[in-house]
Amino acid sequence: MASQTSNVAVLQKYLKLDQKGSIIAEYIWIDSEGSTRSKCRTLKEKEYTVDELPIWNFDGSSTGQAPGDNSDVYLKPVAVFPSPFLLSPNILVLAECWNADGTPNKFNYRHECAKLMETHAVHEPWFGLEQEYTLLDSNDRPYGWPANGFPAPQGPYYCGVGSGKVVQRDIVEAHYKACLYAGVKISGTNAEVMPAQWEYQVGPCEGIEMGDHLWVSRFLLHRIAEELGAKVSVHPKPIPGDWNGAGLHSNFSTKEMRVEGGMKYIEEAIKKLEGRHKEHIAVYGEDNDKRLTGRHETGAIDQFSWGVANRGASIRIPRECGAKGYGYLEDRRPASNADPYRITGIIMETCFGTVDK
Ligand code: ADP
Ligand code: MN
Ligand code: MN
Ligand code: MN
Ligand code: MN
Repeated sequence: MASQTSNVAVLQKYLKLDQKGSIIAEYIWIDSEGSTRSKCRTLKEKEYTVDELPIWNFDGSSTGQAPGDNSDVYLKPVAVFPSPFLLSPNILVLAECWNADGTPNKFNYRHECAKLMETHAVHEPWFGLEQEYTLLDSNDRPYGWPANGFPAPQGPYYCGVGSGKVVQRDIVEAHYKACLYAGVKISGTNAEVMPAQWEYQVGPCEGIEMGDHLWVSRFLLHRIAEELGAKVSVHPKPIPGDWNGAGLHSNFSTKEMRVEGGMKYIEEAIKKLEGRHKEHIAVYGEDNDKRLTGRHETGAIDQFSWGVANRGASIRIPRECGAKGYGYLEDRRPASNADPYRITGIIMETCFGTVDK
């Protein structure tokens, strides 16, 4: 479908209108494709905690999440944020998907992740995710790339400044501000190695908050790019060949790793991660084999490796942590399209075991 920019200037006029004691709640969920969907409803104006927000539903047969003859999927609110689009007191509501029979929907990866986080909460797990993405034009070509041909080789684009080096900084900066307004724990942003590719980081977040904040940050990015007529691709290898892929580097630490003597716990975790390399790769995103080639700052998909400051390894210990002897590790394997609930969940399971029965 062709993209079209919204007339954001005209919208300003209506944003100022009195809402007469009502607010708009935009419910957000994750569909069968790993995209976000949303729909809005009117609620009485007040400050809502998640428990006070009504459970809602949608037609799961239209999203590939339920059969047509039993199509209702329930939306259970799990996190609430002020809306950077309609502004406070209007809200965004992140919701989990549940089936009519009381079981979690097949694509509800949050439920299992939350149980793992709860079971192992004493370790105070922190995560920081680096979301890389590529901005595409209406022909699904990376923005600013010649229609028939390629830009000059990689080199000037990473953290680039200036025309011909980066594109659509307006989307990047609008997204940064929108995250801050919503209270999403965004911690930075930078232009990436491949032209039209960007990154932002979310974290550190503790436990289940990591997945929640990353999903809302993705929703905000797609929503802002929609207004400006661009498409966001989280494909891990949008352009084959000598162009960097896109990942979701996952930084991880526990309370034990973050203090003096922590390296022992970091190395212990790495040993456990090594033993379950295949299981991790299985949930670290689709088409990740096209990205994890052992080139372009990646480790090969069928080999587990680790090292201090090594960007060609599966796991990297940041130089500063290596020098201090404590801190965190970076799992460089997850693809940009991976589900953060599945990543953070399996890291907990591998390091500390399955959930309590
Ligand atoms: P890189 O050098 O790999 O590009 P970035 O600066 O992009 O690193 O991202 C680092 C990420 O690590 C950030 O999201 C940050 O929040 C996270 N982080 C920092 N300290 C910790 C920690 N102790 N535990 C977990 N994550 C952390
Ligand atoms: Mn209808
Ligand atoms: Mn980074
Ligand atoms: Mn990066
Ligand atoms: Mn990184």
